[in-house]
Amino acid sequence: MSVTQQQVLDSLARVQSPRGVALPHANVLSAISASDGKVFFSINVDAAEARAWESVRAEAEAAVRSIPGVTTVMVALTAERKPGSAPPPPPQPSRGAPGVQPAHAHKPPQGGGSPMARQSEIPGVAAVIAVASGKGGVGKSTTALNLALGLRDLGLKVGLLDADIYGPSVPRLTGLRDKPELNDERKMIPLRRFGLAIMSIGFLVEEETAMIWRGPMVMSAVTQMLRDVEWGKLDVLVVDMPPGTGDAQLTLAQNVPLKGAVIVSTPQDLSLIDARRGLAMFKKVNVPVLGIVENMSYFQCPHCGTRSDIFGHGGARHEAEKLGVPFLGEIPLHMAIRATSDAGNPVVDSEPEGPHAAIYRAIAGQVRDQLKGVIATA
Ligand code: ADP
Repeated sequence: MSVTQQQVLDSLARVQSPRGVALPHANVLSAISASDGKVFFSINVDAAEARAWESVRAEAEAAVRSIPGVTTVMVALTAERKPGSAPPPPPQPSRGAPGVQPAHAHKPPQGGGSPMARQSEIPGVAAVIAVASGKGGVGKSTTALNLALGLRDLGLKVGLLDADIYGPSVPRLTGLRDKPELNDERKMIPLRRFGLAIMSIGFLVEEETAMIWRGPMVMSAVTQMLRDVEWGKLDVLVVDMPPGTGDAQLTLAQNVPLKGAVIVSTPQDLSLIDARRGLAMFKKVNVPVLGIVENMSYFQCPHCGTRSDIFGHGGARHEAEKLGVPFLGEIPLHMAIRATSDAGNPVVDSEPEGPHAAIYRAIAGQVRDQLKGVIATA
C-alpha cells in the first residue's frame, strides 16, 4: 500500500508544535519524501530552540508510523544557528533513546580537544573508522567494502555504514535492496551480508532525495544511522564518507566519533591534491589518518596479468612519505575488481584466494594494527 504526502501531513496535523500551532503550520517542515512505505522528512529549527523540539520530532515519527502501510520513518531534527544568535546549549547525554541530536549542537569548540572527548561513543562499537576521498569516482566505496571484508577475514566483527549521502553505492556493491526492520526499541536492524552488518541511506530513501539534502540534513541522517541502528557488538565500523572536503564532510568528520581515517586516492596528480585536502580536513578535527590507499594504482591486464603503470604510479606512496602518514597499499585497476563490485559480489568475498583479496587483506592488517589497544581482538 503506498503512502501519500497528504496522509503524512494529515497525521502530523495531530502533533502540536512549541509555536502553538499544529506541526504542518509551524513552517519548519522540509519536503516530505514518501515512497514504498518509506517516509523521510526533516524539521528545521534554530539551534537555540532545538531541545524543545526533540519531543515533537519523536511524536511526529510516532504519528507517521501509525499510518497503515508505513514501514520505515526517519524524521531528522536539523538545527541551524542563525547569524548572531546565542550559541546552542550543550547536548544532553544520550540515554539510548532514538532521535537525532541537533546537527550543530554538538559541534566541538573550534580547534581544540581530542575528538574522543567531545563525541559520545556508539555502544558496543569499539572503533569507528572513515574511508574518505578528496573527490568522487576514485573507488572509495569499493575500497571501503573490500577493506571491511578484509577486516572480517582477520576475525573481526565488522559493520559498514554508507554515509555517502550524495550517492549511496553500498546497495549496488552489496546487492542489498531490502528495507531495514525496526526492533522493539524502534532501532533499525542493519542488513546482513558477507558476515557484515550493513546500513546505507540508500536503503531508506531514493538516491535523488539524498542528493538534494543540505549539510545539516546530511549530518542528521548520518547521526541517526549511527545511533538509531542496532549495530550490536562490533570491533570496527567502517564509514564510507561522502566524497570531498566541503562543509558537510567536515561536519561529519567532527561529529562522528572516529578513531581514524583511511584516504583513498588515485595516482593522478589532481586527486593527490584532493587527497591532501582530505588529510588537512582530518587534521583540523584531530582525527588520526591511518594511511593512504592508492587505488587504480597500475593497470593489470586481465588476460596476461602484465602490469602497466599508465598513471605514473607511486605518487601516493611518495605523497604519504612526504606527509608522514602511512602508505597502506596499492590496488590495481582491474576488470575483476570493477565487475565484482558492480555485480554486488565484492572481490574479497567472491575471489578470496585471488591476488586482489590478498592486497585488501594486507591493507586491513595494517589498519587493524593501528587500532591495537582500541579493538580487543587486535
Ligand atoms: P567512489 O566511491 O570513489 O565514487 P566507487 O567505489 O563507486 O567510487 O568506484 C567507481 C567505479 O570504479 C566503480 O564502477 C568501481 O567498480 C570501479 N572501481 C573502483 N576501484 C577499482 C579498481 N581498483 N579496479 C577497477 N575498477 C574499480
